[in-house]
Amino acid sequence: MTNFDFDLFVIGGGSGGVRASRIAAGHGARVAIAEESRFGGTCVIRGCVPKKLMVYASRYSSDVADARGFGWTIPEAVFDWPLLIAAKDREIARLEDLYRKGQEIAGATVFDERAVVAGPHAVALSSGRTVTAGKILIATGGLPNVDGLLPGVEHVITSNEVFDLKAQPRRIIIAGGGYIAVEFASIFAGLGSEVTLIYRGEKVLRGFDMGLRDSLMEAMAARGIRLVMSDIFTRIEKREASLVGTTLKGEVLMADQILFAIGRSPNTKGLGLTEAGVALDALGAVTVDERSRSSVPSIFAVGDVTNRINLTPVAIREGHAFADTEYGGKPWSVNYTNIPTAVFTTPEIGTLGLSEDAARAAGINVDIYETRFRPMRNVLAGRNERTLMKLVVDAASDCVVGVHILGPDAAEMVQMAAIALNLKATKADFDRTMALHPSAAEELVTLRTKR
Ligand code: FAD
Ligand code: NDP
Repeated sequence: MTNFDFDLFVIGGGSGGVRASRIAAGHGARVAIAEESRFGGTCVIRGCVPKKLMVYASRYSSDVADARGFGWTIPEAVFDWPLLIAAKDREIARLEDLYRKGQEIAGATVFDERAVVAGPHAVALSSGRTVTAGKILIATGGLPNVDGLLPGVEHVITSNEVFDLKAQPRRIIIAGGGYIAVEFASIFAGLGSEVTLIYRGEKVLRGFDMGLRDSLMEAMAARGIRLVMSDIFTRIEKREASLVGTTLKGEVLMADQILFAIGRSPNTKGLGLTEAGVALDALGAVTVDERSRSSVPSIFAVGDVTNRINLTPVAIREGHAFADTEYGGKPWSVNYTNIPTAVFTTPEIGTLGLSEDAARAAGINVDIYETRFRPMRNVLAGRNERTLMKLVVDAASDCVVGVHILGPDAAEMVQMAAIALNLKATKADFDRTMALHPSAAEELVTLRTKR
């Protein structure tokens, strides 16, 4: 027993925090966790989960349109925004409750308030109480950036607000070209809004395989999204019920809502970290070693606040590894190779490993296997959209080092392909795997043509 109030104090009840707290408590540690908003964090409350529910909602419009080709006559479909938002809110409340109960069942002491670091072993709660702990885990996540220099920026919304809009915007402009921007462009287009995407670069999703970037932009444009590339807003004004954005190139764009999705920053402001001696990097992220330990030996950090790879499953693993290592006598660290990721646009992207350009830049002599085809379902539907599948193969070892898919169920396929890549599967291993017919995924094991 120590003289501290707790063995571990976790600040933040999101993906990383709740996992660390539950596992540490399971190992017998006396754990406390503080959450200033709602248990579940970004992913459950205002990220992955409500986003995916809205993705599902947005796809019914094309499903209904496609059904005609399969013999269905469906009367005009009408979408009801308040109904979707209310259903989504009920589901999020249910999940939030499960996350909180998970903490209570594990035996963690829950504080529903803001907590900040008051020293290497001390945490100050907003209620005025200070508690002590052997170790402190920072799991405070990230916050959306807004361009602070832009006149009129107070009129825009971010992903924090988009899930709770009272009414569906008839016209929406989305600024940014990353995950959130393209996902919401697809969501609103599918729900029937008029969508414009404005991005400062030439092609969205910088860093992704070029084939995916080109094909996604083509598909988005074909689905009615207006793409304004190589431009940014310089001013935003409110004129009666409309927002009017002026761009650097002099375009004037009007909408009911403007959503800024221009990246997120680690949530470390006002947390007392620098005062306690915790080193932060230039972006404000907590600097940690491979065991998530900060420059102060008793203070650790996991998830988006460390700005390693900002995805929920990564935050969860980092939290789990921390708890096993510090309280379970089972030290391990997270393996960051071959992390599959999806972009839930319509059509969606599933991607894993090296892009063709990244592989070449790494000096790998690559063989590229690629196919573009009209998925079976699209033929009768009269939809021209094509699926892209691409394998990047290291010619020297025959190992598959990248899998890139754009098309229906790409996320599901890439999750499975990640197992193969972790086992260092070669192109020959893919080829000797029997195809499953008829499926789209069978193309992955029947790719013969080298580009
Ligand atoms: P968070 O989940 O952000 O949790 C941090 C928690 O700490 C919050 O609940 C916050 O209220 C609390 N907190 C902060 N400061 C304090 C304090 N001082 N005291 C007490 N509590 C505090 N990832 C995917 O893998 N797949 C997706 O499809 C996906 N979609 C996304 C969609 C959107 C719109 C966004 C914004 C993100 C998405 N992400 C997705 C990313 C994912 O949500 C994050 O990577 C993940 O939530 C990070 O978990 P975390 O534990 O680090 O932080
Ligand atoms: P991203 O980092 O993915 O994208 C940010 C975008 O904003 C980029 O296109 C960037 O351009 C652009 N940008 C940056 N600064 C400015 C600026 N000042 N003015 C105009 N444009 C700017 O961030 P997101 O906000 O989309 O998402 C945050 C993170 O959340 C993601 O990176 C991901 O880790 C996670 N996430 C994961 C999802 C998933 O798994 N499906 C879904 C949503 C989020 P440039 O590329 O030129 O720098």
